[in-house]
Amino acid sequence: MLALRKTRAGRGVDLVRTGFDGPEPGPGEVEVAIRAAGICGSDLHAAAWDPSYGFMEPFLPLTIGHEFAGAVTATGSGVAGLEVGDRVVCWPTVPCGDCDGCRAGRPSACEARRIVGLHRDGGFAERVRVPAGVLHRIPDALAFDRAALTEPLSIAVNAVDVAEVGAGDRVVVLGPGPIGAACAFVAQERGARVLLVGLNDGARLRIAERMGIAVTCDLSEQGLDAAVRETFGGRCDRVIEATGAAASVGQGLSVLRPEGIFVAAGIHAQPCELDLSRLVREKKQLRGVHDTTARAFAEAIALLARRGDALAHLITHRLPLAEGEAAFDLARGGGAMKVLLLPDQTKGQTT
Ligand SMILES: [Zn+2]
Ligand SMILES: [Zn+2]
Repeated sequence: MLALRKTRAGRGVDLVRTGFDGPEPGPGEVEVAIRAAGICGSDLHAAAWDPSYGFMEPFLPLTIGHEFAGAVTATGSGVAGLEVGDRVVCWPTVPCGDCDGCRAGRPSACEARRIVGLHRDGGFAERVRVPAGVLHRIPDALAFDRAALTEPLSIAVNAVDVAEVGAGDRVVVLGPGPIGAACAFVAQERGARVLLVGLNDGARLRIAERMGIAVTCDLSEQGLDAAVRETFGGRCDRVIEATGAAASVGQGLSVLRPEGIFVAAGIHAQPCELDLSRLVREKKQLRGVHDTTARAFAEAIALLARRGDALAHLITHRLPLAEGEAAFDLARGGGAMKVLLLPDQTKGQTT
């Protein structure tokens, strides 16, 4: 079968023919025919072989991709609760089961977790075999392409949870990529007033507006302070950062009211300098957020079932798996939001 694989430590990904080790999934494993798989920022980082992805080296070669939806085609021994034909999505985190966090019943605090698509074969392939525990059933009415948004949407739901966003809160979201736009959407669904900002991000901000994000601003046209004041008449209650740009943390904290909550969700290549005296005196909370929770994942599925028409605007491109390399180039560009790979499509069927 066709798969987009990281074959060596170094730049690039390769479209190759590959197969499974045995005819059947191993004990506790489930085989899934992939119907749609989204390209994530981390896939781009892995392809570019950014230094913080060197952890993948001992696991190569492997098929990348962790934001996928598909149908179960086979189950290994000991699998309960999933059957051939079930429509599923993947929450790609596999806790180790053995560290302090796992033993204390807090798998989200696992210190040795493994990620499908980064530590073991993932979803940029026609089929994948994964531990049964990472798969979650989706409603019949939820189309596979929309369902492939579940994982990134669940990241956003969790970020909004950690930010403790409530109705009427004034929320600034920094960064209009798929995670930022989804955070803005979820916060707005909870009744918050939301300002979504970008920098030279006109195309993505327009997409967010089509999703229903009421207020957006490109910081190339107006500074953050002025935009926040104009939108809310004062500072905001919550900031969610989804830029990965270190400078945005200080900027975001400066528009946050005393006792406000700042949630950092970006993956930062650079360290960041903070005015800690001001943070302390204004009693602000700075929280890191990563991955998601079972509750947030379930809410993401429910949101897609209920508000899929709006959320589907996140999908800007659909390409056959055979055009995976071109899809990566598109995903790197500023005009794309979520680029999906569709193994069912043949070459030239780009939509
Ligand atoms: Zn992702
Ligand atoms: Zn663990």
